[in-house]
Amino acid sequence: MIIIMLGAPASGKGSVAEILSKEFNIPAISSGDIFRKNISEGTELGKKANEYITKGCLVPDDITVNMIAGRLTEKDVESGLILDGFPRTVKQAEELDKMLAKDNKKIDIVVNLETPEEEILERITTRRICKNSDCKAVFNTLLHPSKVEGICDKCGSELYQRDDDKLESAKNRLAVYHKETAPVADYYKNTGALYSTVLSKTVNRMKDEVAKDVIEYLRNK
Ligand code: ADP
Ligand code: ZN
Repeated sequence: MIIIMLGAPASGKGSVAEILSKEFNIPAISSGDIFRKNISEGTELGKKANEYITKGCLVPDDITVNMIAGRLTEKDVESGLILDGFPRTVKQAEELDKMLAKDNKKIDIVVNLETPEEEILERITTRRICKNSDCKAVFNTLLHPSKVEGICDKCGSELYQRDDDKLESAKNRLAVYHKETAPVADYYKNTGALYSTVLSKTVNRMKDEVAKDVIEYLRNK
């Protein structure tokens, strides 16, 4: 099973990916998490990526594609995987197709989480994340606040705001999303694998409902 998660920053890709990962017993691979891990460990990749990430720009395609290509050679992805945050450009989508074709694999579903334009920036700037790297639970001070402010419900660690979730960087990420990432959904439209669904606070569909719909859709496919 190969699942791709698409959507604006802070649309809930990671949360839905986590549920699908448990359901299908396949790893969820977040490109952003791999970059952040490399940054915190001070690796060469981390140093390069950090320059772009703090500004809210995309890490260049060649660096990102190489990183994912490396990850796809690991044993745990043999029976499937969920990609969260990759591909983020049409170029990356094309490169992914080539990588998969080499192994005779194909994408089963591209889950596109659509978020109303006016909600995206608010979602990004109100996101809070657990500092505990084994937990990384995601909260939102408006949509899904922790029970105790600033403290993770799951493990009791402190919550923090990513630097690139602060307003200036977030604005840039939103612009980059429209220019570079939104066209990726069109790219997948032609393949028949695209499954779009709206995540909005007005509709108030929670991540588990969306995950349930996706599971249902895959079962009936
Ligand atoms: P979000 O959760 O807001 O969607 P991520 O954690 O996926 O953000 O990504 C954080 C940052 O890491 C991005 O803003 C970008 O700078 C970088 N990044 C992650 N994935 C990619 C990618 N596929 N291509 C280029 N840059 C990426
Ligand atoms: Zn936690």
